[in-house]
Amino acid sequence: MKEDRTNNLLGKDLRVHIIGAGPASCVAAINLAKAGIAVVIHEQKSDVGSRFNGDFQGIENWSTNMDALEFLSSIGISINFLCDPYSIGTFYGPSMKEYIIRTSRPLFYLIKRGTDSNSLDQGLKQQAIDSGVKIIWNDRIKHSHYQTTIIGTGPRAADVIAKGITFRTSHNDACFGFLNNEIAAKGYAYLLVNKGQATFATILYEDFQKTQIYFQRALETMQSVVKIDIEKPKDFGGFGNFILNQDRNYKEDVLLIGEAAGFQDALWGFGLRYALLSGYLAANSILTGKSYNQMCSEKILPLMEVSLANRWLFAHLGNLGYDKVLKIASRKNDILESLRKQYRPSMFKGLIFQVSKLSYRSRLVDKQCMHQNCDCIWCKHCKESSEFKEALTI
Ligand SMILES: Cc1cc2nc3c(=O)[nH]c(=O)nc-3n(C[C@H](O)[C@H](O)[C@H](O)COP(=O)(O)OP(=O)(O)OC[C@H]3O[C@@H](n4cnc5c(N)ncnc54)[C@H](O)[C@@H]3O)c2cc1C
Repeated sequence: MKEDRTNNLLGKDLRVHIIGAGPASCVAAINLAKAGIAVVIHEQKSDVGSRFNGDFQGIENWSTNMDALEFLSSIGISINFLCDPYSIGTFYGPSMKEYIIRTSRPLFYLIKRGTDSNSLDQGLKQQAIDSGVKIIWNDRIKHSHYQTTIIGTGPRAADVIAKGITFRTSHNDACFGFLNNEIAAKGYAYLLVNKGQATFATILYEDFQKTQIYFQRALETMQSVVKIDIEKPKDFGGFGNFILNQDRNYKEDVLLIGEAAGFQDALWGFGLRYALLSGYLAANSILTGKSYNQMCSEKILPLMEVSLANRWLFAHLGNLGYDKVLKIASRKNDILESLRKQYRPSMFKGLIFQVSKLSYRSRLVDKQCMHQNCDCIWCKHCKESSEFKEALTI
């Protein structure tokens, strides 16, 4: 690993350029701008959230003790977007037996992604603009020549794939989850309903070329137990990228944040908390001179390592194990504490991590290349790979 550099640029006539206007970038921009630094965001699309389609996501509340709302406030973010707590969910294993899981505090906060006015993306954009951040739209950066740059361009390869629909419905607000390798290979399917809108998706960790088949099976399975009307369905899809051994301060004054840095939750793909935190840490590093790599090593990597161990364990449960785990979970008064324990570093998780590390390979090949026609941040060659194209061609 390169020697860490000091990013204390306060006092100089500094302008920070941020590539990409995703959640990680907006958090970095907001914190820098509030500290009086001039910030310019370069976004390749004409608006934020274009990678998404009004689909619901969750800011999870189990990987750390800090409640997600407190966490958002601690990184300088106010709630000007849909952010509804969910404390109960109905889950099904392969046997299709119903398990109700309750938590004393929210299991997650439901947020919306995309261009709708109440989405997380629009909320963060507004906070950035209000803080004085300049955003340049339709500005796809291929090579950055700016001196101080933060790169928050999102995932660079598909280690996990999502395929789903958003739709209108008259169903009550609800959360449903499905564990079954026939409908979500080593992953899960979920249905989230909020105020007449719904998101249904399947998440795959392998077998990407059969995404559409898994999705159809998942939809039929869900409809066999949930009586829900589906009006005006719209497709959406996406992917996630998990990388452990990335040097996030990989060039002088160039910091990688969010999924561009490979910050993801290997277990279930809940990468938002890492993305938001990394944006905050990057801003903090520029403002205080503290090492960004060091802060990531202390605050993000231990959780990612445990999440990789958890992924290995989860992938080995198989269909028989899913029902058993759901049965145990549904008997607990509050699953939150048990889930949190699963994210605590321990000797056992450390051992499993060593094993899981041996078998895990991100599909990203070259993590530092800045040239075209490769796996780099700028050209996203991986997106063009035949496996990926096939998976998202519907
Ligand atoms: C379907 C799906 C469901 C998910 N569900 C959840 C969930 O429930 N909970 C959770 O915590 N996480 C979830 N995630 C993961 C979460 O969405 C990501 O971790 C998060 O969006 C990462 O944020 P980011 O800021 O790093 O990148 P992004 O949100 O991807 O933003 C990157 C931005 O950079 C822009 N950009 C890219 N390249 C360039 C360039 N060269 N020049 C200029 N701009 C560029 C893009 O247009 C985009 O606006 C999900 C992901 C998917 C795909």
